[in-house]
Amino acid sequence: MTPIHSLSYPIYFEYSLQELRKFISQSQYTKVFILVDSNTEIHCLPAVHKVLKDIDYDLIEVTPGEENKNIDFCIGIWRMLLDFGAERNSVLINLGGGVITDMGGFAASTFKRGIDFVQVPTTLLSQVDASVGGKTGIDMDNVKNIIGTFTQPKAVFINTEFLKTLDEREIRSGFAEVIKHGLIYDRLLFNTLKQLGPSGLTDEIIYRSVEIKNEVVKKDPFEKGLRKILNFGHTIGHAVESYSLSHGKNPLLHGEAIAIGFICEAYLSFKKNNLSEIDLNETVEAIKTVYPAYHIKKESYPALLEIMKNDKKNNAGQISFSLLSEIGTCEFDEFCTEEEIFESLDFYSSS
Ligand code: NAD
Repeated sequence: MTPIHSLSYPIYFEYSLQELRKFISQSQYTKVFILVDSNTEIHCLPAVHKVLKDIDYDLIEVTPGEENKNIDFCIGIWRMLLDFGAERNSVLINLGGGVITDMGGFAASTFKRGIDFVQVPTTLLSQVDASVGGKTGIDMDNVKNIIGTFTQPKAVFINTEFLKTLDEREIRSGFAEVIKHGLIYDRLLFNTLKQLGPSGLTDEIIYRSVEIKNEVVKKDPFEKGLRKILNFGHTIGHAVESYSLSHGKNPLLHGEAIAIGFICEAYLSFKKNNLSEIDLNETVEAIKTVYPAYHIKKESYPALLEIMKNDKKNNAGQISFSLLSEIGTCEFDEFCTEEEIFESLDFYSSS
C-alpha cells in the first residue's frame, strides 16, 4: 500500500512506525513530545517507544474521553510544553484517537503561534477520518469542535495493528465514518460494508476510506464547498452527541451519534433532495443492523435544535445540511425547516 499524498504531507500505511522513526531522525527538531491518553500509553506507546529507541522525547499524558477535549486539558498540554522547554522547532507526536489528534493538533497549532505535529491515529475513527484533513479543535460548553484551526500535520502514520486492542464498541463507532465515505462518495464501498459489517473490516477498506477523505479534502481544504459533504449525518449527529454528553450517564460515542444522524439526514435527503425510497430504506437497514436503537425523547427536540443552531456550517441563521441524492453522491448547502428536522427525528424513532 503506497503512501497517500495529501495536501502537503504523506499518509503512511505500510511500515508506518518505521516511517515515523525515519521522519523524526531525519528532521532537525530540537525537542520531541508525545501526547497520549492513559489507554494509548498502555496499548500503543510501547510499539512507538520500540522504534524511537534512542530518540529522546518527553511524554504528555491526558485523561481519555470526549468530555476532556476542552480548554482545561489544552492548557495542561500548553503548560507541559512550556515546562519541558518546547521551542518553535519542536514536534508533537499525537498518539491516540480523535480526541488526542484533534486536541493535540489544536494545542500544537497555537503554541508559540504553531509548532509542527504529526498524527499517529490509534482508533478506527481517527485512522479513517480525524487524523486526515487538518481540522484541529476542542469542544466548549458541550458544543462540539467549536474552537479550532485548519492546520495540516507534517505527516500521518497509520498502523492498523493498533486496532487490535480496541473494544467492539469503539470499532463500531469508527465504522460509522467508513459507512459515511461509502454513502457520500462510493456506492461500491457501501455495498461491501453492508456485506462485511464492522467485524469484516480489512486494511484495504481502511485505505480506501482514507483515500476518499483525502480526495475530498484536497479539493477543498478550508471547507468552502465540497468538503461539506463530509458532514453528512453530522448536523443532527453532533447535536445528539452533544446532548447525550451533557445529559446521559453513558453518553453516545461519536460514531454512534452520527449513525443516528445518517438515518435522520437520509430521511431529509428523501424529502428534500430526491433520494429514492429504495436508497433510503437501504441506508436505514445498513445502519440499524449495526447500531442498537437509541431513544430520543421528544422533550429533547427543542434543545437539539438549539445545538444545531450553533453548527459551523450554518448560513444566515439557517441550519445547513449535506444531503444525499443517491447512495454514493452527496450535495451540500441544503436548508431544512425546524418542522422537517423534527419529522426526521420522529422518522428515526419509528424506523
Ligand atoms: P477517542 O480519542 O476518545 O478514543 C476512543 C477510546 O479509545 C478512548 O478511551 C481511547 O483512550 C481509547 N483508545 C485509543 N486507541 C486505543 C487503542 N489502540 N487500544 C485501546 N484503546 C484505545 O475517540 P475517537 O472515536 O477516536 O475520536 C472521536 C473524536 O474524533 C471526536 O472528538 C470527534 O469530534 C473527532 N473527529 C474529528 C474529525 C476531524 O476531521 N478532525 C473527524 C471525525 C471525528
